[in-house]
Amino acid sequence: MFQDLSSKLDQAFQKLKGEAKITDVNIAETVREIRRALLDADVNFEVAKQFTNDIKDRAMGEDVLTAVNPGQQFTKIVHDELTKILGQDRVGLSVADTPPTVILIAGLQGSGKTTFSAKLARYLKQENNRSPILAAADVYRPAAINQLKTLADSIDVPVYSIGQKDAVRVAKEAVSMAKSLALDTVIIDTAGRMHVDKKMMKEVADIKEAVQPNETLFIVDSMTGQDAVNTAKEFNETINYDGVVLTKLDGDTRGGAALSIKNVVQKPIKFVSTGEKLDALSPFYPERMSQRILG
Ligand code: GDP
Repeated sequence: MFQDLSSKLDQAFQKLKGEAKITDVNIAETVREIRRALLDADVNFEVAKQFTNDIKDRAMGEDVLTAVNPGQQFTKIVHDELTKILGQDRVGLSVADTPPTVILIAGLQGSGKTTFSAKLARYLKQENNRSPILAAADVYRPAAINQLKTLADSIDVPVYSIGQKDAVRVAKEAVSMAKSLALDTVIIDTAGRMHVDKKMMKEVADIKEAVQPNETLFIVDSMTGQDAVNTAKEFNETINYDGVVLTKLDGDTRGGAALSIKNVVQKPIKFVSTGEKLDALSPFYPERMSQRILG
């Protein structure tokens, strides 16, 4: 992931470090190259502009030109600013004071909701010793319910399903079921459509209203670039989610969504998904991602 962006940024740094003497002009040229690399990676225009302006201001303010090692100091500034646009610090999941913790999963069809729901159940069970139940509230497609059941079976996690009935009812009953079975976490997989539509949004909003989740996560396919950012905005306006999950980061995503979403919607990225297998899930750490991008 991010290979093209990483190599372009690296080229810009190497060129700067190769200069006999680093001047304002070299810095301005490097900043322009960084901006170009970000735009090529499909980073939101405003985010790229703000990011490069901040780098330039800091480079000038911190007297990079008179530093012992100006090239290195400049790279550090870029690293810090990259960490900042990725969200700065890790933000974890909220937990209910009184169990069960309810986590609502929303996003477009094909974004990876069902896969992520099972991944999250596995992660919470294995890493946090939690006892989850999955709720099959994607009620329109029998295939979706079966997919969730198959994945849940493979990790030995129960699923609450009443077939193709009212999604709000499924969600509410799953919470009651968790209480009666003393399970501490309910993960609700909801239906998505190919595109944002009012009916889908209303259904997710109705589920949210009915079960008052501790955490609502928006799942988005990082391969869709700027569309991912636009969809993130639309979902946020309707359901005001708490965090974002970027999926398919194992593909040849250019990175635009990852670098833009936090700034555009002001919600943290909480997990990234990097494959179809259930263990291909990582909590998101802005600093580590920044390090990875800069190589
Ligand atoms: P949903 O419609 O939002 O529930 O999406 P699914 O969970 O059914 O996922 C859609 C497709 O994307 C499936 O074929 C998944 O195996 C695949 N998928 C989900 N997450 C990832 C990921 O992180 N990487 C890759 N390569 N494929 C993924």
